Amino acid sequence: MKKHNFFAGPAILPEEVKKQASEAALDYQGIGLSLMEISHRGKEFVAILEKTEQTVRELLGLSDDYAVLFLTGGASTQFFMTAMNLASDNDTIGFVDTGSWSKKAIKEARNFCQVDVLASSADSNYNYIPKNYSVPDKLKYLHLTSNNTIFGTQTKIWPDSSCPIVCDMSSDIFSRPLPVEKFGLIYAGAQKNVGPAGVTLVIVKKDLVNKSGRNLPTMLNYQTHIDKDSSFNTPPVFPIYVSMLTMQWVLKNGGLQAMKSRNDAKAEVLYNEIDRNGLFKGTTAPEDRSPMNATFVLENPELEEAFLEICTEAGIVGLKGHRSVGGFRASMYNAIELESVQLLVDVMKSFEQKNG
Ligand SMILES: *Cc1c(COP(=O)(O)O)cnc(C)c1O
Repeated sequence: MKKHNFFAGPAILPEEVKKQASEAALDYQGIGLSLMEISHRGKEFVAILEKTEQTVRELLGLSDDYAVLFLTGGASTQFFMTAMNLASDNDTIGFVDTGSWSKKAIKEARNFCQVDVLASSADSNYNYIPKNYSVPDKLKYLHLTSNNTIFGTQTKIWPDSSCPIVCDMSSDIFSRPLPVEKFGLIYAGAQKNVGPAGVTLVIVKKDLVNKSGRNLPTMLNYQTHIDKDSSFNTPPVFPIYVSMLTMQWVLKNGGLQAMKSRNDAKAEVLYNEIDRNGLFKGTTAPEDRSPMNATFVLENPELEEAFLEICTEAGIVGLKGHRSVGGFRASMYNAIELESVQLLVDVMKSFEQKNG
């Protein structure tokens, strides 16, 4: 039975990417060896790494002012690596606190710099994106979380800021076009919209690096990875390859503008049903709804198990909400088809007929 994958992360990959990846796992392009058993310094992987970087550059229209890095340690390592590398003890970093991931980034940054939380939606369980805050001139940088995977909100209007923006885009990078020049650094764990778990994409403006005045551990210094093209140590070879395939798939399917149209269409179908169907209600402010992660609850929580059950019967998986919000979360990353979202809507309609 076909599964419809709504998991939040690790998450759905395109069918053709999984097929290509499984072939490379057995025999990479007919060399008689798996991609997992050859040197990261051999010509095969060096070519993959170059192509992966080129694909990131092409998708985002990046200039040579930016370095593209493939690191390990997840987005969670970037919570402190950004602060360690880009700011000194006395510098102040501004944060907009939009959810659990922002909160974690704030906690880590406090170990290295001064922190100014400019705005927060914690007072209403992060169900909206704060707006109308002003960004002080004195900031070293402003840190944002573009898409709040757990709470289901997305930043749609980028704030005006005279300082660079550092942004955690783990759950919506490559889902829409970006005004890339606004950003000094973008980071994303791959396992939501880029590829499998194990690699973290970092895009950094080269002139921001090496200004902290700190002695950094070699592995935690962006400059190391810039100088050594992400191969100072052994990079996560297979996750990088699968990420490359996934990004190539995005390009082939029209790039970021086309992804945005696809994603908006899927989100509209689901949110319309959440609003129409009397049994369900959305948990976030409509203007801040994320097209990537739709969070919703049942008006009668006692029906939760019954709803999950008919979803499972239809092949729908990954719908259970994060424990801090409860209810349901439908993650609709680039690779999920409109057909799967339509099926979920059909299941919601038949659930209404039985229980309405
Ligand atoms: C999943 C997620 C993270 C954590 O990523 P790891 O790679 O597991 O460290 C951080 N930020 C956001 C927005 C996420 O969705």
